[in-house]
Amino acid sequence: MRYLPFILLALYLVAMWFFSAWRLRQELNQKATPLTHPRLTPMLDRLGRAMDLPPIRAHVYEIDPVNGLAAPDGRIFLTRGFLRKLDADEVTPEELASVIAHELGHVSLGHSRRRMIDFAGQNAIRMALAGVLGRFLPGIGTWIANLIATAVAARLSRQDEFEADRFASALMIKAGLGTAPQKSLFLKLDRLTGSGGAGAPAWFLSHPPAARRIAAIEAHEARWRG
Ligand SMILES: [Zn+2]
Repeated sequence: MRYLPFILLALYLVAMWFFSAWRLRQELNQKATPLTHPRLTPMLDRLGRAMDLPPIRAHVYEIDPVNGLAAPDGRIFLTRGFLRKLDADEVTPEELASVIAHELGHVSLGHSRRRMIDFAGQNAIRMALAGVLGRFLPGIGTWIANLIATAVAARLSRQDEFEADRFASALMIKAGLGTAPQKSLFLKLDRLTGSGGAGAPAWFLSHPPAARRIAAIEAHEARWRG
């Protein structure tokens, strides 16, 4: 049974994958309410029409950090913290429309489902490297393996972010909202996510720096115009 360790590893990864998907779904089901904000309804309507669809359905994730999320089941969430920023006039409805457009990009491009697979893949890289490196470099080998697996995952997710941004730009232009809200929100994001105090939320960490995201959008715009 030379293959037994690999079979066990594969089973472990599949179990981890199902468990984390299940846990995320539980968490969202417990803390989700329909998004019915009167200032956002027209935006959901416009985004839907731009995609030849009925108004987009979105949900509120009842937590304080400023965040947007596309769940593996395709549901789109804005956090309560983000909606409070709208009520405080710190962000505009158009800027939140750009977040929803970005999350629609993740769903349409299949990122949110792939992210769960990446999670399993990241674990596999981590375990395989830790096994090899740990033999030559006891102690520090595991640490290096963690570092490499994390860097690979960050690299992959950043690529997804640029693709979701490009999708959002195209959709915002088609909806007649333009890319200005997308760019102005990026500039506000550092400040907004920093004001929570309780550590930076995942949305911020997994996203590339504002300046690079804006530069990428402007490059697309130049190409689409030309
Ligand atoms: Zn994203």
